[in-house]
Amino acid sequence: MLYHSLNNDTNLVTFEQAVLNGISSDGHLYVPKYIPKLDPIFFRKITSFSQFNIATSVIKPYIGNTIPNDVIYNIVKNTINFPLPLKNIHDNIYALELFHGPTLAFKDIGAKFMAECLSYFCKKIENKITVLVATSGDTGGAVARGFYNKIGIEVVILYPYNRISPLQEKQITSLGSNIFALEINGNFDDCQNMVKKAFLDNEIKKKYTITSANSINVARWLPQMFYYFFSYKEFLNKFDTFKLNFSVPSGNFGNICAGMLAEKMGLPVKVFIASTNINDTIPRFIKSGNYSPTSVKKTISNAMDISDPSNFPRILNFLYKKNINKLKKKLYSYKFTDKEVLNVIGKTWNKYKYVLDPHGAIGYLGIIKYLQNINNTSYTGIFLETAHPIKFIDNIPSSLRSTIFSKKETHKHNMLNLKNINKKISIKNNFNEFKDWLLNR
Ligand SMILES: *Cc1c(COP(=O)(O)O)cnc(C)c1O
Repeated sequence: MLYHSLNNDTNLVTFEQAVLNGISSDGHLYVPKYIPKLDPIFFRKITSFSQFNIATSVIKPYIGNTIPNDVIYNIVKNTINFPLPLKNIHDNIYALELFHGPTLAFKDIGAKFMAECLSYFCKKIENKITVLVATSGDTGGAVARGFYNKIGIEVVILYPYNRISPLQEKQITSLGSNIFALEINGNFDDCQNMVKKAFLDNEIKKKYTITSANSINVARWLPQMFYYFFSYKEFLNKFDTFKLNFSVPSGNFGNICAGMLAEKMGLPVKVFIASTNINDTIPRFIKSGNYSPTSVKKTISNAMDISDPSNFPRILNFLYKKNINKLKKKLYSYKFTDKEVLNVIGKTWNKYKYVLDPHGAIGYLGIIKYLQNINNTSYTGIFLETAHPIKFIDNIPSSLRSTIFSKKETHKHNMLNLKNINKKISIKNNFNEFKDWLLNR
């Protein structure tokens, strides 16, 4: 498979180059040259395949011959080494739990896969690689964990002072070794801007081979397709034929974009629902056709506090060739407020004894709203539960917290937070100070 910029399909690169570059030289995202279709026989036989078989069949065409098969098998095995259960919440509504990995959020899958790929490429090019990544919380932890102790790779994580949760900070700062945590006295955009500037800085580029681990990297994007296929297999095991509806709590739109690529490869999906918090650029776009990001608003589903989602152009321009009407038949999009989220977390616990996290709660609200809107509540709906509820316990008011979490769980969470946070470097909101540190440490 070859890849090109979303903006220009003449300059083709391999999977290896796309992963190492992160972003195309014209500043746009990479997309595959074509969408490989899976054989209909694959779908008929899918119930007899293991998750490992499914994942390798899905990803192999995208890697081509840049990684030998035996290495691909190992990468896949190491990526899906935790359970991804599909749980029935009530009636025909299911939660696809993606949070059983090491940092309790779905980003573990993409981060691990990317770390394994980079590790292989690093050995091949015999050069040390420096990964720069800005995080608003979850990405940093997943990347730190996925890359921890990988030989030949060092990771520099920039996170905004006082804007990530204590647990998230601990996940980033407690590892040490090849993981460097920089606490920037600014907001997420400031962190992201410093990373972007570093990629344009000749002195930095002369000294280091740098790449980014943000969700635009194809090696983080593509493996997120796996669990959409796994769900299909689970449903075929239960029922005869199935068309699925997926509601995906969305921020940067990488996760839902992977699902929509899976559908283009042949996976039978009826519709996708992009569920967002009040950072509602895409719900507004689907309604009006106007794309108008605003300033970011803070919410309790803070991993989704994004107003200009990087991966949306991959959906609109690449998967749907800018055809909004066609897109609107496949993609629905709704926004929900913090109040609605807290309300549904309480209700779902009271009625079904299931604890939603603030992100998954938005996914749940999205699937319910869609089924109500089409007036057919008998359809099957899956929402993606993207984080373990304990991870965002600090975002839940204490009255609700004491209802839905047991004393044991809260205690466990407090213990997680008590461990030392010491491996961090504080840096002013100033690019030159960051650059100085990077070049002279
Ligand atoms: C990152 C994140 C999201 C948003 O995923 P995107 O792929 O950026 O749309 C949702 N929930 C949680 C818990 C996250 O960490």
